[in-house]
Amino acid sequence: MDAEHVKDDLANILFTEAQIQERLAEMASEIEADYEGKDLLIVGVLRGATWVIADLTRSINRHVEIDWMAVSSYGSGTKSSGVVRILKDLDTDLHGRHVLIVDEIIDTGLTLSWLVANLSSRSPESIQVATLLRKPEAQSMPVEVKYVGWDIPNEFVVGYGLDYRERYRNLRDIGTLAPHVYS
Ligand code: IMP
Ligand code: MG
Repeated sequence: MDAEHVKDDLANILFTEAQIQERLAEMASEIEADYEGKDLLIVGVLRGATWVIADLTRSINRHVEIDWMAVSSYGSGTKSSGVVRILKDLDTDLHGRHVLIVDEIIDTGLTLSWLVANLSSRSPESIQVATLLRKPEAQSMPVEVKYVGWDIPNEFVVGYGLDYRERYRNLRDIGTLAPHVYS
């Protein structure tokens, strides 16, 4: 979907489709260089990271394996307790593998730090995190994020996999949702 179809719903466009592709290509070459001579397993976090995975992996000019995980974190009240549930687990055995977890956005970082701890307990050779977007609060998270597309302000954004009530994921660009949509 092009942004013009929902232009009244967006306060602004943060990143265009072209800017996203360009940044993902840069991240892909970094990843390519860092994992030279190693077998890389990319773990995508459903559902939002689907678009990032599709474009990032196609910019990596080397064989990679891709597996998927779906998790749900409980509502904001209990989120701080770090309670996360696995909805769909990996099919791949992580023992001895170089694992790169890829997500589309890190907000508080609670989901991701739980995920890193969980996957680390499965004896991978290495484990790193990549995200297209990162919000300010995540800077204080205990888990190191090796690859970040952009740091963004603390606003609610949609598009390119990011949803508001399951809508806008198929928007080509990333934009800030206008307040009238959720008020
Ligand atoms: P957290 O890092 O554990 O707080 O959770 C991150 C998750 O919250 C992401 O995977 C998204 O599903 C969702 N999320 C956080 N900020 C946004 C946003 O601005 N737009 C859409 N989804 C968001
Ligand atoms: Mg998500």
